[in-house]
Amino acid sequence: MTKPIFLTLQRGERLVCLRLGLPHLALALSFAVLAVGIAWPQQDADQQDTNQIKWRIAALQSELEKLVSQNGMTGELLHTRLAEALNRLKKLDAQETALTSLESSEHRLRDLDQRITRVERQHLRRLQDLSDARASKSRQIEGALQMAGIQLSPAPSEATTAQGGPFIPLSEAFSGPFAHEWTRAEPLLARHAMLSAALPNLPLRAPLLGPMDVSSGFGARMDPFHGRAAWHTGIDLRQDKGADVLSAAAGTVTIVGWNGAYGLMVDIDHGNGLVTRYAHLSRALVNEGDVVKPQATLGRSGATGRTTGAHLHYELRINGEPVDPTRLLKAGQSIASLLNSASQIGDPAQ
Ligand SMILES: [Zn+2]
Repeated sequence: MTKPIFLTLQRGERLVCLRLGLPHLALALSFAVLAVGIAWPQQDADQQDTNQIKWRIAALQSELEKLVSQNGMTGELLHTRLAEALNRLKKLDAQETALTSLESSEHRLRDLDQRITRVERQHLRRLQDLSDARASKSRQIEGALQMAGIQLSPAPSEATTAQGGPFIPLSEAFSGPFAHEWTRAEPLLARHAMLSAALPNLPLRAPLLGPMDVSSGFGARMDPFHGRAAWHTGIDLRQDKGADVLSAAAGTVTIVGWNGAYGLMVDIDHGNGLVTRYAHLSRALVNEGDVVKPQATLGRSGATGRTTGAHLHYELRINGEPVDPTRLLKAGQSIASLLNSASQIGDPAQ
């Protein structure tokens, strides 16, 4: 910015040698003009010196104009370069901000990915555990029912009104290992759901509380009254008069009343051709048409009808034919814990 200026007032003799900037140069020019104003009358006689001073002032003014011009150009250039530098700095700031944001987003995405993967693994493990547990229960139930001679098949699905749309299997909504596991688990879960829904309506529960005391079994026996061979269509359970008689399964009460040798009796229809009968009651506590839960109290034990003493005659019919109810009662004992959970979860009569 500061340029060396040599002021020479007399030819060949350098009087002043200074580094002057614009302010200095302006000051020098003012001083020269003032000096001329003061000295002019005193040097009127010396026209040559006056001319020399005028020439030096003109030269100095030219120098000043030149310097002003150069300084102006330099300032403009500096201003332009400064503006460019500031603009580049702004761009650098923007780049830094964008990179920081990207790095932060990348970090968050990576963290999110890891969390999703972790939850996916948990879901997969839960599905595997659930399907394995239910498959095990299903095998237990089916084994017990097969020993009792009962074969369950899936009930036909009931038509549902006012619904529609394309059928999309649920497995298609999943992906990866979970979809694969879901495909494996789906039939196991469906089988378990069918069995659980069926259990409350199967006469697997004892019709009396406490240990079962069978005084006469199902099938051929000697008639207790006249001692001749006879066919016993149920089992007799020894029980004092007045004990609670319980429904062996959920169902609908179809008969309440007196019926010859059966005395006062109750019939329950459990669906799928299964009917249980409770006879020789002293009292009935339900009405025809009642919907009852498993182990609902139906009446009180007694000795009505053709009996030799107080007991409960318990009978099971499948499609109208009497069968030995003890097979189902034994099956019920082997899956007692599952019956309790099934009555809580899938009892349609509740
Ligand atoms: Zn009997």
